[in-house]
Amino acid sequence: MGGDDPRPAAGPLPDARLSLTRPARGVVAGSPARRMGQNRIMSRRTSRPRPDAVTAASPCPCGLSATYGECCGARHAGSPAPTAESLMRSRYSAFVVGDEPYLLRSWHPDTRPDRVGLDDRTRWLGLEVHGSTDGGSFHQEGTVEFTATYLERGQRGAVREHSRFVRHEGAWVYVGPLPPSA
Ligand SMILES: [Zn+2]
Repeated sequence: MGGDDPRPAAGPLPDARLSLTRPARGVVAGSPARRMGQNRIMSRRTSRPRPDAVTAASPCPCGLSATYGECCGARHAGSPAPTAESLMRSRYSAFVVGDEPYLLRSWHPDTRPDRVGLDDRTRWLGLEVHGSTDGGSFHQEGTVEFTATYLERGQRGAVREHSRFVRHEGAWVYVGPLPPSA
């Protein structure tokens, strides 16, 4: 793939204008892959967050058939994720909508970074869940393997990760990537 200019159209989005008036945020090292927790398959670059225009009635960015408001938006609004996979999906959607506070609070306190450093030049393209283990109502741990794809300055990249989740104070949280062999 490639050749098309993937830069966002310079539309009159209020968010885009507002973002110009915000103080520049500190640059956080790492690519989208790093920020999602691990191995980058490609790409680098940093800058400021710019939430994509996802509304409650939009198809959920995580790829399920529900709307954002019924699916990951409900998690972002505080409804607990029933499974590790649903938490993982909601974390992907949080990258799409730029919900850094959600990413932080859905991260285990032992592995949580101080901040995520979302990049407004990263456009998340989609999520594919390859499989999961445990992570259900009666489990305390679970894993989910997924690939998230993105465009960044004309480069298409992907983050593939086999992630570990545990219950913390009753709620599913992200711990981090499993070793590649796991
Ligand atoms: Zn969703």
